[in-house]
Amino acid sequence: MNILQNQSATHPVTEKPVNKVYDVVIVGAGPVGLATAIGLRKRGIENILVIDQARAFRQVGQVVDLLPNGLKALKSVDPDAYEAVKTASFTFVNSPQSGDAKTSDVTEKNLPKASQEWVYKNLQGEKIRSISLSFDTWLKNYGEGRVSISWYNLQAALKKLLPEDQVKPNHRCINVVDEPELGCVRLDCISNVGAEANPYAHWADGQKNSEISQNLDTTSEQSITKSFHAKLVVAADGINSTVRRVLYTDSPYQAVAKPEYSGFAAIFCPEIPNIPDELRSRLEKKFFADSAILTVSNYELAGDTAFSECPRMMLIHRQKIGYLLHISVPLQSLQNKSGNELLELAVQALEKASYPDELKQLVRLSPVENMLQRPYYIHRAVVTDNNPPAWSLGRVILVGDAAHGMPPFMAQGANQGFEDAIIVTTLINKIAKENNWHNQQAISTAFDKYERIRRPFMEYIQQATLTQFPSSSNEQWQAYSQKVYTRNFDQLIAELS
Ligand SMILES: Cc1cc2nc3c(=O)[nH]c(=O)nc-3n(C[C@H](O)[C@H](O)[C@H](O)COP(=O)(O)OP(=O)(O)OC[C@H]3O[C@@H](n4cnc5c(N)ncnc54)[C@H](O)[C@@H]3O)c2cc1C
Repeated sequence: MNILQNQSATHPVTEKPVNKVYDVVIVGAGPVGLATAIGLRKRGIENILVIDQARAFRQVGQVVDLLPNGLKALKSVDPDAYEAVKTASFTFVNSPQSGDAKTSDVTEKNLPKASQEWVYKNLQGEKIRSISLSFDTWLKNYGEGRVSISWYNLQAALKKLLPEDQVKPNHRCINVVDEPELGCVRLDCISNVGAEANPYAHWADGQKNSEISQNLDTTSEQSITKSFHAKLVVAADGINSTVRRVLYTDSPYQAVAKPEYSGFAAIFCPEIPNIPDELRSRLEKKFFADSAILTVSNYELAGDTAFSECPRMMLIHRQKIGYLLHISVPLQSLQNKSGNELLELAVQALEKASYPDELKQLVRLSPVENMLQRPYYIHRAVVTDNNPPAWSLGRVILVGDAAHGMPPFMAQGANQGFEDAIIVTTLINKIAKENNWHNQQAISTAFDKYERIRRPFMEYIQQATLTQFPSSSNEQWQAYSQKVYTRNFDQLIAELS
């Protein structure tokens, strides 16, 4: 516990008498922190608090796909949370002509008819496979559906299920201090502070258009320091986790205190306005056909390095045509680069991987002012030595991206976070039922169990993410889908309870 105690020296706060000790304080009101809070309340643990650094909760973030494993985990956390998220999402229903009977009453919102499948094509424009986006098809195949929802709507839907006074924005956790004599942990927070540069954010700071930070306010108000005390702390403060940094600084895990660049990045252009008719019709014939969204790559390449050798190009054809290129690139090649330089980098990557002319021409037409980049970071779950950086220390446990954030290629970040949430709420519920709040041994046993359950699966998911091995053949795809999407938590919860 020295690691936590040492930090107090670097962030002194005024000591005040402790007048309230929460059972659990959750740092971070993202999807995983909120799901954990909802799960705890559902199990009767109501003396809790969620704090978030955002000055106010605003419309930020990307669209998140919630897949059967994540939705099943969320349903186990609380069926009301599952329903609220499903209602707030946009779902894809089978078109009547597809022959599939409607098996649920989900509604189709804001979607063009042609976008009910995600098509994968090789460089020659041949279809390798397609994935249904329909809730009902996933429900039929894996026992649960699939929805898409913006990060903000997900946050808003979950937040509504918690009493307003239990979710406090404008509280940035800056320090975590163990207080063994009080049997709790102290969290020091500051309020009324402006945005902090966050190069790891999902919505890159300084990015164009609507992808803004929730912390934009500049303020003339005095910043305030405040402390909370909790018997347990759940750190759900995202990939750039402060709690993780505090836990690992000055420890053998110092090297993994901050997120590591994954080696992969996105270069993208959301809109290419002036595409000559002749090129547009070639693209439509060979690639888009009737698909609104597709991924193009050299799927004939196989093995661990296939993804590094060939970029994945996602093409989007809704009202506008745009693309997103996932490439393996050194971080320095992206940093401080102009639109022109990013465009050049994208073209070079396509040339190196022998992409067809139509796609190279399309990229060359990108307006430089529309060019964007996003490096992807990771907290690796895989352990290369016998001394892994534990996901907990004393009374503090890391969940979601704070524990195992990763690039979004398999759309599993939030889904895996919901898996964390169901395990952690079940284990904390057991601590509460057995009144083990002050039994450090019981707490350590519970937190170790969480890690033993979650880490091996995260290793698998991260391997799939970094190598894209499920894309290498239909058999691999099927095997991955069965393993991940058919997961069921009922038995595990019964065993852990
Ligand atoms: C482009 C992109 C696409 C993605 N697509 C998908 C997808 O399709 N499916 C999927 O499952 N996942 C997807 N993800 C990943 C997903 O968004 C994350 O895994 C998920 O949001 C993690 O949830 P979290 O609650 O752990 O962290 P976050 O969502 O990062 O939330 C962390 C919260 O903590 C707060 N916070 C941070 N620091 C502090 C502090 N010091 N004190 C107090 N509060 C703090 C933040 O304000 C934030 O509200 C995608 C990610 C990206 C970048």
